[in-house]
Amino acid sequence: MILQQISSQALIDLEDRYGAHNYHPLDVVLSRGEGVWVWDVEGNRYMDCLSAYSAVNQGHNHPRIRQALIDQAGRLPLTSRAFRNNQLGPYYKELCDLTGFEMVLPMNTGAEAVETALKAARKWGYTVKGVPEGKAEIIACRNNFAGRTISLISFSSEPQYRAGFGPYTPGFDLIPFGDADALAEAITPNTVAFIVEPIQGEGGVVIPPAGYLRRVRELCDEHNVLLIADEIQTGLGRTGKLFACDHEDVMPDMVTIGKALSGGFYPVSAVLSSREVLGVFQPGDHGSTFGGNPLGVAVARAALQVLIDENMIENAAVMGEYFQDQLAEINSPHVKEVRGKGLMIGVELKESAGGARRFCEALQQHGILAKETHKHIIRFAPPLMITQDDIDWALARIRPVLLMD
Ligand SMILES: *Cc1c(COP(=O)(O)O)cnc(C)c1O
Repeated sequence: MILQQISSQALIDLEDRYGAHNYHPLDVVLSRGEGVWVWDVEGNRYMDCLSAYSAVNQGHNHPRIRQALIDQAGRLPLTSRAFRNNQLGPYYKELCDLTGFEMVLPMNTGAEAVETALKAARKWGYTVKGVPEGKAEIIACRNNFAGRTISLISFSSEPQYRAGFGPYTPGFDLIPFGDADALAEAITPNTVAFIVEPIQGEGGVVIPPAGYLRRVRELCDEHNVLLIADEIQTGLGRTGKLFACDHEDVMPDMVTIGKALSGGFYPVSAVLSSREVLGVFQPGDHGSTFGGNPLGVAVARAALQVLIDENMIENAAVMGEYFQDQLAEINSPHVKEVRGKGLMIGVELKESAGGARRFCEALQQHGILAKETHKHIIRFAPPLMITQDDIDWALARIRPVLLMD
């Protein structure tokens, strides 16, 4: 049985019959990708405007990252952390040099990185801040997305993420996003951390008021509370800076990164922080069989190098502004707002538009893959190496779709 000869419909039927239905994907079955482009099994070409939720910032199948994967796969893919490997030390140093943090804790998925940051914050709270045992509180924002584990959905405000999955992990408090006064009111002597996405991604590309993060930084300093920035989606160039926090020159106490850390080749995530915070972990406190494995680490080293060497972060800033401006000029009766930073762009539709899904399906027919987030928002987040010609190509197809009845 040669895979290429199976039709899209037959492959969709297999997925639907044998796979759990925890996603509602567009019915496009992809088999190849290069740069901003992907091809389905029938050979149709599409521009990818989702980038695997920003995991493919460097573009699909980047040759340098692919070569790093192949080379390391041919030498040594996995040691476990029971032994050391020759990739890990240089990776830590490169990541710290690039980001200005002192220490790294490597994990695999974004959810694991966030879990790790929360564990570090709790232990820091007990051992450094002096919070009474069992009393640590962590403040998060409504409309957040941090991943799908039981503890992470315990501080979600999205009913569907939670329903049927209780009982929930205690110790979390929710406040509105973008409201620094609410943070000031919520902090108690037992608060160990405030976790926030600088821009809410899955929540619908929600941008807080200017100065928000700076004020949050001040409040956290005042009350000895750790500021955790979840930059798994916003980080590594997506918003036109290395980190979205850089737009306000804010240095968090901890940052979680993932997604584009591997350029899409492999699940690689990490927590970045200080010696004071990550130093709370003792051997045996925390770990992961695959975290810090040489294959993932070799891929991440190449993926970071590519972002820098190929000026993708600057490109995201320039192309993002152009894309956003041009989208805003489409005078569609359906559009309520175009917003974003860099190449993280959301087009919010009016209630009367009948939901974003039908627009995403129409975009697919025109050769553009985008995914609705929440009910009314179309997200445009193409790979960061996109060119102005590519964007013009996309706009010529997005325009008629946004103007349809
Ligand atoms: C995607 C995402 C996560 C979770 O990452 P996974 O790799 O899917 O577990 C966490 N936080 C943010 C902000 C994300 O966008």
